[in-house]
Amino acid sequence: MTTCIFTSDSSVQHDTGPGHPECPGRIPSIINGLKKIPSKNLIWKKISSFDEKYIKLTHSEKYLKKINQSFPIEGLTFLDGDTIVSKYSKKAAYDAVSSIINAIDGIMNKEFDNAFCIIRPPGHHAEKEQAMGFCIFNNVAVGATYLLEKYKLNKVAILDFDVHHGNGTQDIFYNEKKVLYISSHQFPFYPGTGSADETGKYNNILNIPLKAGTSSKEFFDSYKKVYDKLNEFKPEFILLSAGFDAHKNDPLANINLESKDYYTLTREIMKIAKLVCGNKIVSILEGGYNLEAIQESAKYHVEALLEI
Ligand SMILES: [Zn+2]
Repeated sequence: MTTCIFTSDSSVQHDTGPGHPECPGRIPSIINGLKKIPSKNLIWKKISSFDEKYIKLTHSEKYLKKINQSFPIEGLTFLDGDTIVSKYSKKAAYDAVSSIINAIDGIMNKEFDNAFCIIRPPGHHAEKEQAMGFCIFNNVAVGATYLLEKYKLNKVAILDFDVHHGNGTQDIFYNEKKVLYISSHQFPFYPGTGSADETGKYNNILNIPLKAGTSSKEFFDSYKKVYDKLNEFKPEFILLSAGFDAHKNDPLANINLESKDYYTLTREIMKIAKLVCGNKIVSILEGGYNLEAIQESAKYHVEALLEI
């Protein structure tokens, strides 16, 4: 496969204040790992602009206006207890959305087969009308909206393997039968949502709650349901909310995946993508807070994306 990596300088300039786990160093850590992959099929692109109407369609005009007014000229502004913005955060937040739009366009135009967007801020906790959990715009949700609106797709799947439940993505698509949202996450845990009985208006939500201490084997056993649901739904495009915080060394959670498990997981998803959607996958960074663990895990993830 040809895999395109999208990233931007603004992702590193987004300052969340001293000691914040969602720190700028996450980006160079992942990039430095990927630079060690000796493949000619790994291509790198800078992020270009997009039509912000897709943010309005995903969130709302009111929310976009509120967020645009919240970025400070200097210092830090708290959008909630742990979602912090500063001078360069606006550019970073817009670039994060751009990355998934650019990645989708590149795949639809057959410039490359799949893509991984290495961006900050992450997105999956951002609800329709609420920034939270380090997230400002729900990047993956804007990507799914873009696929429905611009490319008129009828079935888009979002698989979220971040260790936290993507309450924002679930909130945005709870009543949208064209979008299947699947999330595996530690439960009960932040943000509190994600129980198995939250299934969406059209049975279009699948939550896989995992107890603290879940091992790799238990994780993959639970994923049989995920693969069945994807095979049954037959999405035309698969978006991944790629958080690497289910790693055993992550400081914010208690699931015990090994770095190489992200290779295994990605390969399984790719087998399904080959059968149902002509390999179309865009993966976008969510969480992952141990810099060494995210470097290794993201490298395994991309090595899997590159394989046929
Ligand atoms: Zn997370």
